[in-house]
Amino acid sequence: MELGDTSRSWQFVGREVFRSECDVEFPRPRGVGLTMRLDTARYDAIILDLDGVVTDTVSVHELAWRRLFDGVLRHRVKRADGAGRPFSHEDYLTYVDGKPRHDGARDFLASRGLKFRRGVPTDPPERETICGLAKRKDGYFVELLAARGLRVFSGAVRLVSELRRSGVQAAVVSNSRHCRMVLAAAGLSALFPVRVDGIDADRLGLPGRPDPAVFWEATRRLGIAPERAIVVEDAETGVAAASRGGFGLVIGIDREGGGEQLRTCGADVVVTSLDEIEIADARAVARSHELLKPSRRATVTNSSAEDIPTRGRIDVQ
Ligand SMILES: [Mg+2]
Repeated sequence: MELGDTSRSWQFVGREVFRSECDVEFPRPRGVGLTMRLDTARYDAIILDLDGVVTDTVSVHELAWRRLFDGVLRHRVKRADGAGRPFSHEDYLTYVDGKPRHDGARDFLASRGLKFRRGVPTDPPERETICGLAKRKDGYFVELLAARGLRVFSGAVRLVSELRRSGVQAAVVSNSRHCRMVLAAAGLSALFPVRVDGIDADRLGLPGRPDPAVFWEATRRLGIAPERAIVVEDAETGVAAASRGGFGLVIGIDREGGGEQLRTCGADVVVTSLDEIEIADARAVARSHELLKPSRRATVTNSSAEDIPTRGRIDVQ
């Protein structure tokens, strides 16, 4: 897998552009206030959802679903029928966001009175079963990602980098089957040695969120107890899963003004960006890092986001 000629470029959402592997120092963007300070002695690991927390891929998934569903609705539902109205952002949040893709496809189509056989995982994308439609959506996702480029949330990378330096492990979870591809394209594979994605969930038969199974699988692979782990999520189903799973701290990311719902679902803390969180010993960690590994620090380029586009070819192995 590669992302054109710019596989080592990251585009950080709304901020600077960095060129590096994961081991870099991240200054806090100006104007971002501190919401909380993490005591790293209380936690052994941080587990982050990928889409919407680490990478700005939620919008790409939503577009891919829209292309799929609008195509299905055009063929299956009469325009005059209200059930034929286009797939909306509200539909995405209500029926799809945070769910395994088969469940999301089934639930949205059922909301418009359409029922499809589940089919089998080997169904081709042109077959009109839930498995076939989900595979068609996966193809749209890869096409759109290649066309739009990959954007990374700098606050997540900064926080995880600092926690890793202070001895806290890190894992990422995703419903997507393209988790590994996205991490590699962003140069973040090394930052997250443990990954539980849609391929793992299918293989292990893990139920989707709000069941905490994927988070528990992450703690199992990390070799820690859930109460010693922090979970970071942006979807209500994910926050509910972490809350039910007995995790030590549940951080909700509110990017769309849904903070109150995240709190209702069980978030201990709700922030708009992980830039609002700092680890208690961050300065000591940064100093020791500077002394121990000066050659691995990266150069920060204060370029605008347009200067180093991440658009390019994405080949899936
Ligand atoms: Mg998410």
